[in-house]
Amino acid sequence: MPRVILHIDMDAFFAAVEQLDHPEMRGKPVIVGADPKGGKGRGVVSTCSYEARRYGIHSAMPITRAWKLCPHALFVRPRGERYAGISQRIMAILHDFTPLVEPLSIDEAFLDITSTFKFFGSTEMTAKTIKDRIRQEIGLTASVGVAGNKFVAKIASDLQKPNGLVIVMPGTEKAFLAPLEIERLWGVGRRTLPLMHRQGIFRIGDLARMSEREVVRFFGDHGLHFQRLANGIDDRVVGAAGQVKSMSKEVTFSHDRNDTDELLTTLRTLCDELAHELRRKYYRGRTITIKIRLSDFSTFTRARTLSHPAINSGELYNTARDLFQAFDRGGQAVRLIGVGVSHFEDEASQLDLFQSGRSEVDTIDRLMDRVKEQFGQDAIRRASASRSPRQPHSPSERSNLDEI
Ligand SMILES: [Mg+2]
Repeated sequence: MPRVILHIDMDAFFAAVEQLDHPEMRGKPVIVGADPKGGKGRGVVSTCSYEARRYGIHSAMPITRAWKLCPHALFVRPRGERYAGISQRIMAILHDFTPLVEPLSIDEAFLDITSTFKFFGSTEMTAKTIKDRIRQEIGLTASVGVAGNKFVAKIASDLQKPNGLVIVMPGTEKAFLAPLEIERLWGVGRRTLPLMHRQGIFRIGDLARMSEREVVRFFGDHGLHFQRLANGIDDRVVGAAGQVKSMSKEVTFSHDRNDTDELLTTLRTLCDELAHELRRKYYRGRTITIKIRLSDFSTFTRARTLSHPAINSGELYNTARDLFQAFDRGGQAVRLIGVGVSHFEDEASQLDLFQSGRSEVDTIDRLMDRVKEQFGQDAIRRASASRSPRQPHSPSERSNLDEI
């Protein structure tokens, strides 16, 4: 039986909440993020309202740049608790439509409505009812994509933002994807994009059409994964509520660092924190990724997949250190450094751990954990143990490593 997967994504979530709570901000450019400090601030834009987007402002942009583009915008600090509270209410609404809800972040979730949509009339009626309830009960708009799998549903929800609804009929996934730009494919980032372009791949359909042999020759085995997505094939199930697929720790320095020993000390502390959290949540992952942002804001990730899951801080650090030392930063100082773990063992193989260690996975707890990660509350508390002076994380809607 074909599946019916729905991806729901709140529109400009943090900024929309600010406009909801502060009527005087409605219709105005609102930028949630770091303090611009009159153009001298550090950190980035977390989210901005659609009015601000007209000035070319977007998430993850340096706050100083946003300040230059639109100095009269309303710059506000994020209110994590408030956003988390609203997120909980949204997730509760979603659970009225199916037990299979997988939150991806504070304002995004997948729903598998295969066996429940008939109660609400049709897939379209289900999507509309969800949107209506969120608008009426919360006062915010959401965009929804509906398709036969997660990948296509997620792409669909983004196409008609804000307040969008895009339904991809079963069997039309490939044709739907073909004309879209290749950078919409998960995992095609700054590094992969030029490689794709060099092979004449500009649209998703260009990759879908390539022979398997060519794909492997140009992009390695990983290319086959991209190609399956390009053909609209994605078998991943909508996971248990709150299932986390990657975990990371990062820090933005108050001033850029160039001293390698000092940077490695910070990396060590981040690995300690990460290992602690992995253990606490019974996760074991095989892929270790480091993230480095240089003083010119260029951002790089380097990853290595181990043959077995890394569990302790020493293993994490040894790999992270190797990756860091192999990275040539061309003499530039480092602005941000981070480490993450993904490629978690699947739930079945973790079952023994679950049974010995925990009773059930609570959605709200997981969401709160993610919010804390996003806002670095833990990092702030533990920072005292680190010898490197640190700033709290710049809250941003940073993407997880999980969509690769
Ligand atoms: Mg969103």
